[in-house]
Amino acid sequence: MAPTILRRGAEWFAGIGRPNNSGTKVFCISGHVNKPCNVEEEMGIPLRELIERHCGGVRGGWDNLLAVIPGGASVPLIPKSICDDVLMDFDSLKAVQTGLGTAAVIVMDKSTDVIKAIQRLAYFYKHESCGQCTPCREGTGWMWRVLTRMVKGDSRVPEIDLLQEVSKEIEGHTICALGDAAAWPVQGLIRHFRPEIERRIAERNGARIAAE
Ligand code: SF4
Repeated sequence: MAPTILRRGAEWFAGIGRPNNSGTKVFCISGHVNKPCNVEEEMGIPLRELIERHCGGVRGGWDNLLAVIPGGASVPLIPKSICDDVLMDFDSLKAVQTGLGTAAVIVMDKSTDVIKAIQRLAYFYKHESCGQCTPCREGTGWMWRVLTRMVKGDSRVPEIDLLQEVSKEIEGHTICALGDAAAWPVQGLIRHFRPEIERRIAERNGARIAAE
């Protein structure tokens, strides 16, 4: 793209996309799409168009979509209802409480265990924490352990709010951005999939009561 910008000029490049969100972006689309790929596209392309034009669509069709992490593992996921018409640029994604980040788009279809997916990301951040700041050192491991139980429904409903609270104590309270990166996926899970966490807790408790 750089030679083309030099040839055509900055104004031409700035004319691509929307104001404050101009130019192109290299999107790296992985997960449950028919053809994962890296592609340079116009900023502000609708997410659905990006996936359908370049990746052969979501595995099983658009209606089989569960959620997308639009900007790399550290940004909050968005459910299908938002994916339906969200644009892929900084301001559009910020408006739906996520981010363009690295533009590494992770697509999850309905076969995904979304709590397990976020628990796995939590493990990654716990593993990567260098331990220098207390909120990150202690918090990443704590969140991972809670999520590990939540995958099986082995939790209590008030613990969901506690998990949210702890993630807020980590966010913005660390030296580097790893603390934020660990907190945001957890916050996205609670924001959009709280009913699923509660359902699993109820299911597990029901099974426990039935066994007694
Ligand atoms: S936030 Fe960064 S500096 Fe602090 S413990 Fe985590 S990885 Fe280390």
